[in-house]
Amino acid sequence: MRVYKFGGASVKNADAVINIKEIIKSPETNLVILISAMDKTTNNLEKVWELYINNYTTGSMKELDKTIVFHEEIYTKLNLKSNAVFISNFNALVKEIKAFLCAPNSKNHAYCYDQIVSYGELFSTLIISTYLNANGIKNKWLDARELIHTSSHHQEGRVSWEKSKQQILSKTKNQNTIFITQGFIGSDQNKNTTTLGREGSDYSAAIFAWALEAKELVIWKDVPGLLNADPKVFKETQKIDHISYKEAIELSYYGASVIHPKTIKPLQNKGIPLTIRSFIDFTSKGSEINNMGGKDDAVTSFIYKPNQVLISISPKDFSFILEDHMSELFGIFSKAGLKVHLMQNSALSFSVCAYIKTPLISNLIDRLSEKYLVKYNEQVDLLTIRHYQNFNLPEFLAEKEILLEQRSRSTIRYVLKK
Ligand code: ASP
Repeated sequence: MRVYKFGGASVKNADAVINIKEIIKSPETNLVILISAMDKTTNNLEKVWELYINNYTTGSMKELDKTIVFHEEIYTKLNLKSNAVFISNFNALVKEIKAFLCAPNSKNHAYCYDQIVSYGELFSTLIISTYLNANGIKNKWLDARELIHTSSHHQEGRVSWEKSKQQILSKTKNQNTIFITQGFIGSDQNKNTTTLGREGSDYSAAIFAWALEAKELVIWKDVPGLLNADPKVFKETQKIDHISYKEAIELSYYGASVIHPKTIKPLQNKGIPLTIRSFIDFTSKGSEINNMGGKDDAVTSFIYKPNQVLISISPKDFSFILEDHMSELFGIFSKAGLKVHLMQNSALSFSVCAYIKTPLISNLIDRLSEKYLVKYNEQVDLLTIRHYQNFNLPEFLAEKEILLEQRSRSTIRYVLKK
């Protein structure tokens, strides 16, 4: 069995869907395909959710209509409008989400998020599965909510591995067909929809690959493979042909956005290779991540995370920063929704470079200020250079002020201010 994952950019319009048909043209049956929501649908459904939880029902319906029209345009171009079964299935999904939006707003906003935002993946897979069936690629649509079982931690469901594995195996065994299902979504023991966190479809694909002991997982991207820097930020990039799981985990930990950080572990545990390939230039080889590292340090990688906050914290009574302070601080961070990306401490101060949603900052600072002296800089950038050759900043960052620098034998990190 092989597992393919197509993200939002690879299914952003009708032409992109037609391109997918070209990619899976060969009459292979041992294939499970996971697909994300089309283009920016998840962001749009997040707007629907925001309006809904703020009790703007009419506004949320209007916003939803935009998403529905977007999908209608795509399926019309794909000639699915005359397919009565498809139209009835699509309309049934629309009816479900509208019924949810009309019902009284639950206090649990994270729960509402999952019930609303999950429709992006349901719409996209229904359209693509129907289109492929109508165009010579026989496949079976599976509802990932029946296959991926999670805890009830909405927006970040924790996977029940064995239960999910049993379901995945039982729904896919002995059937001579390709399967199409959704990334990102699952359900809890009450059969409520859950999601695995933004960009979680890679993770879903790794869960399927793990359960099926797949020969390979291929993630199709709009880049030629794994690059040593984000081409949206850096002018010159280099493709990395091959790295180990360990290096891939390090890169995603530092913030390389090409793979979701949770994706590698299940693959590593079963020795399943991950290939990143281009859906544009789909005959080229891509990059491979597997057990055999060896040349991980051959290429220098640049991982750039803008919009961070740098916070320096010192006890008001001049006491040392010790373990009990740390555990208290991390308790505060986790409650406030701060995601720490770099830490540094001295006798009297502890600094973190981290990400937090802007409206939540003041609450965090107030909470910390009760016991500590707090200084902070918003809008700083975190640059990680892995396998660095020298200590020079890339040219376009050279003008920035270095607020903090941290260096190990393999990695150098800078917190930079504009
Ligand atoms: N559609 C979800 C998102 O945009 C999941 C994914 O694409 O991986 O975050």
